[in-house]
Amino acid sequence: MKQDQKSPFLVPLFPDEAFAPTSGPGLFPVENRPCRENAWEGVNDLDALREKVILCSDCRLREGARGVVFGEGNPQAHVMLVGEGPGATEDEMGRPFVGRAGHLLDAMLRSAGFRRENVFIANIVKCRPPENRLPLPDEVVACYPHLKAQIRIINPRIVVCLGALSAQTLIDPTIRVTRDRGKWWTKEFRRYLVTYHPAAVLRDESKKAPMLEDFQALRRTYLQLLSDDEGGSATLFKER
Ligand code: URA
Repeated sequence: MKQDQKSPFLVPLFPDEAFAPTSGPGLFPVENRPCRENAWEGVNDLDALREKVILCSDCRLREGARGVVFGEGNPQAHVMLVGEGPGATEDEMGRPFVGRAGHLLDAMLRSAGFRRENVFIANIVKCRPPENRLPLPDEVVACYPHLKAQIRIINPRIVVCLGALSAQTLIDPTIRVTRDRGKWWTKEFRRYLVTYHPAAVLRDESKKAPMLEDFQALRRTYLQLLSDDEGGSATLFKER
């Protein structure tokens, strides 16, 4: 998918104030869909959520995909990474970020001292968009309750937005990754970091060093948060 391209959203989909409703005056008109943002409010367990989400056919993406790529990792992760949507390899394997971009993401995580199993990796949309196009706004809205519930249940301290769609959906639709990467936002007591999508780095090697820097900043902030919690002496991957 093309990174750093102009947001397809003309107005905020989920503006400020921590995941506000997705319908109403001034927001993107979503084909008169009822707002389903809190669809999974009563679901408090990741396995139960997975059972529900894999049955979803709320948008056109499900028809063209082999299956729903729910996401994977530590259900109690302090750090969650959110990409755009599954590609061909992910669709085939039913797992997020397992193709070339995924290998680069694994390397980025390792460079910061993390392992894939210690974080949780998900996408904005859970089904593969055809020909790796960007998900359309109504597809993002349809899928958003799933991601919102994942974030609520996992309750990570840090969310890393990989690329423009993730950052524009989760933080602010005016974000431009080339300008805003490396910056942090705070929402609902959670820290959000914007960085490049690994596929963008695969296309343009000059983005690799800044992305590595962002992952070093991730490590520092993570350790700082743990230290603040525990009065110092925190190590990576401490169980909650
Ligand atoms: N790109 C994404 O955004 N997500 C994946 O899972 C794979 C590639």
